Amino acid sequence: MYSYRAPLRDIRFVVHEVLDFEQHYRSFGREELNRDLLEGILEEGARFAETVLAPTNRIGDEHGLQFEDGQVRTPPGFKEAYQRYCEDGWITMTADPQWGGQGLPGGFSLAFSEMLVSGNMAWKMYSGLTESAVSTIEAHASDELKQRYLPKMVAGEWSGTMCLTEAHSGTDLGILRTKAEPLGDGSYAVTGTKIFISAGEHDLTENIIHLVLARLPDAPPGTKGISLFIVPKFLPGDEGKIGAANGVRCGSIEHKMGIHASPTCVMHFNDSKGWLVGKANEGLSCMFTMMNHARLGVGLQGQGLSELAWQASIAYANDRLQGRSLTGAKMPGKSADPIIVHPDVRRMLLTQKAFVEGGRVLCFLTGREIDSAHLNPDTEARKRSNDLIAFLTPIVKAFLTDASMEVTSLAVQIHGGHGFIRETGVEQLMRDARITPIYEGTNGIQALDLLGRKVFGTGGKSVQMMVARIKEAIDKYAALPEVTPFAVELGKRLEQWGRLTAELGKAAMANPEEVGAAATDYLQVSGYVCLGWCWLAAAGVAAKKIAAGDAEADFYRAKLVTAQHYFDRILPRIDSHAAAARAGAAGLMKLPAEHFAFA
Ligand SMILES: Cc1cc2nc3c(=O)[nH]c(=O)nc-3n(C[C@H](O)[C@H](O)[C@H](O)COP(=O)(O)OP(=O)(O)OC[C@H]3O[C@@H](n4cnc5c(N)ncnc54)[C@H](O)[C@@H]3O)c2cc1C
Repeated sequence: MYSYRAPLRDIRFVVHEVLDFEQHYRSFGREELNRDLLEGILEEGARFAETVLAPTNRIGDEHGLQFEDGQVRTPPGFKEAYQRYCEDGWITMTADPQWGGQGLPGGFSLAFSEMLVSGNMAWKMYSGLTESAVSTIEAHASDELKQRYLPKMVAGEWSGTMCLTEAHSGTDLGILRTKAEPLGDGSYAVTGTKIFISAGEHDLTENIIHLVLARLPDAPPGTKGISLFIVPKFLPGDEGKIGAANGVRCGSIEHKMGIHASPTCVMHFNDSKGWLVGKANEGLSCMFTMMNHARLGVGLQGQGLSELAWQASIAYANDRLQGRSLTGAKMPGKSADPIIVHPDVRRMLLTQKAFVEGGRVLCFLTGREIDSAHLNPDTEARKRSNDLIAFLTPIVKAFLTDASMEVTSLAVQIHGGHGFIRETGVEQLMRDARITPIYEGTNGIQALDLLGRKVFGTGGKSVQMMVARIKEAIDKYAALPEVTPFAVELGKRLEQWGRLTAELGKAAMANPEEVGAAATDYLQVSGYVCLGWCWLAAAGVAAKKIAAGDAEADFYRAKLVTAQHYFDRILPRIDSHAAAARAGAAGLMKLPAEHFAFA
């Protein structure tokens, strides 16, 4: 059984050396966010993830949740970890000081969040959802609602949920049925049943604040008739205490493949009092604040699980003795060599390493843009950051969660038969990861969002913006001899990406089904290009350090070797995805639905 060690050396490489968060904050006049402070957060955060959270991960998976009379009891250790999280001030770290937060920009906090996910993804979901709910209330609710809910939620005394899904309405939210009737006093009676609601009921906080999508009586059909409501489990009482129960009941919890310690609840709302957030019938666009926040959070879940799977794999590959090296015994005194001597095992390990370390750059780079979108005084620059975030969000969500499926599956493979049995713990990672390509908009929907809205919706301008950004990195690093081949290769891939985008654009004008047919492969092409960008930057920094005679040359050489693996063996996957994207809709749509299977 592996144990989690926060990958501080690599996190430092990304936040200080590749992305230079200290300089980034200084450029916005936030000198107090200096290296010492950032280091303090990383070190203490690592300690929390390793010593408080990680020990609860396996217990959570095996013990699961207890459900009785509408109450959910979390696994042993969860409450204590949550209390520590609140007492030590982690929960308030990124929130606005106006509501009791400490005001740390959210971009840097992604480094901390990654460690929490690796420590215990299921546990992290409780506070992650609350953070997303807080950002939605901050962005769209009235001052009165903010005053009533935010201080309690920021302090961690009340938690949050997002209630979209109904039994008949998953991806297609336009057909949801939950209704909200005005009560004449500014509040509404919300009635309906939501399913699959994460943290809909639990014992970590005294109150749970649900953000619920529902329809007003006169609402137009479809997505234009959906409104957003705050519906608390207990009505807020006097002096910050909780008041009466509000007709919100958890009917049952799901029995699931993974994340056993995260309650996935059927929630019944029965004339529950709610308050409108944002304008009537504009609930879906308000909820997008929450969903975009959560989508990046899910991408980070993929990242955190990949890191854990990679750690387990590398430890096992150095330990497990099987067979001899093809070039002669490496450990003649032992019965066999460790499996890390075998080229095929190295292929798997380097593939994991390339996704994990490259994915970290991609996540934190997106985080840095999120900060810029908030802190940059220049309106144009803020818009550019927002455009970049909009483009990268479906890629971070879908590409990194698909990658987590590959990385966790490779972990099982590296462990051989021992990976398939429970004892080694890696099968849990694969089970936990499996939800990430599904929730927060399935990866198929992310792909449609990328190609349909972000690419064609901007007339291809978003891709041009990305190409320009990536070319800046190529210009910056191309002259370094170790990096030149990577820069040349990435330049060719940018041209290929541009040609593919133009071709698909033409095809889509003739037939809208072409977008749906190409989207998933197009997202993969885009993901591999973006990861190539990350690896180019990482290799560039590493090459400079080696040239400067840095004492940690081995660390930087490992970066160059991993970049080489990425460019030699992973980036070329673009060719098959581009071919599939070009293959068009006709082949997919030819077979009548009733001819897919014959009795
Ligand atoms: C563990 C867990 C936790 C969850 N937490 C929450 C939560 O906190 N709050 C909440 O509201 N929901 C939550 N969900 C629900 C989750 O977001 C949905 O399961 C997801 O959005 C997909 O909806 P669905 O399951 O109804 O699948 P469907 O919408 O029925 O989709 C089935 C398949 O068809 C594809 N598909 C559907 N429509 C299209 C289309 N138009 N174009 C192309 N492909 C399409 C999908 O990609 C998918 O592959 C959770 C689910 C689980 C399992």
